[in-house]
Amino acid sequence: MEGFAIVTGASSGIGEAIARRLLDSGCNVIALQRRPPRFRHDRLQHHKVDLADAAAAQAIARTIAATHQVRYLVNNAGVNRPGVLEKATVEDLDYALALNVRAAMILIQAFSPGMRAAKFGRIVNISSRAALGKTQRTVYSAAKAGLIGMTRTLCLELGADGITVNAVAPGPIATELFDHGHPPGSDKRQQVIDSIPVKRVGTPDDVARVVAFLLAPESGYITGQTIFVCGGTSVSGSGGA
Ligand code: NDP
Repeated sequence: MEGFAIVTGASSGIGEAIARRLLDSGCNVIALQRRPPRFRHDRLQHHKVDLADAAAAQAIARTIAATHQVRYLVNNAGVNRPGVLEKATVEDLDYALALNVRAAMILIQAFSPGMRAAKFGRIVNISSRAALGKTQRTVYSAAKAGLIGMTRTLCLELGADGITVNAVAPGPIATELFDHGHPPGSDKRQQVIDSIPVKRVGTPDDVARVVAFLLAPESGYITGQTIFVCGGTSVSGSGGA
């Protein structure tokens, strides 16, 4: 894979697994998030940025676009602040949209001109199976569903220039975030597992594998799609993160 791949939120969980997998396949990876990656690699760079800050996101994206041939973009950074409707705040909604949706748009705006010029680009947005609806996810599901809408629109606008735009919607994935809310061995974790058709929680690499597939140059006939990597929870309509 020639050119650079941007992965947002590569300091933990799913983003880290995506970055590792891309590095293993020979890619040059630029990680964008607040904390440095937890590992080092010759082909891994990190730029510290709070992607919920629009001006900061635009500034770093412009700098990288001017100096690197970015051909792959994975918008993975995200946050979930669960709560019932009565507890949802305007601030939570603004923040979720800023990080999950606005940052993705900013990065796509910055890197798509270079992809258009090269007549090649691969964009993957990390949504969630919660986009289909899940209790206590008023804010989160709105943001993640927004990302699917943006994916479908941009597939139409960018396809003629060889750029594909897809979404990956994970279900419960055993990241630190999930383990914190569902400690291994807890009843709460077991309840989630029981609700998943394949009877296990997913791994970050379950998601990274699908992202790598969609980023591959050979995957150019798949665009505008949302691939659920959720152990079947999007079908059963229960459980999940
Ligand atoms: P983690 O909390 O482990 O990772 C989130 C990543 O996002 C971190 O690297 C974090 O980096 C980055 N991030 C958070 N806030 C910001 C910010 N303001 N600016 C820049 N980067 C930020 O979560 P997961 O790996 O579990 O989640 C990754 C994606 O997958 C998210 O979009 C999430 O919504 C989605 N997802 C996860 C599921 C799961 O079960 N785990 C299920 C469905 C979807 P840092 O703190 O260093 O800034």
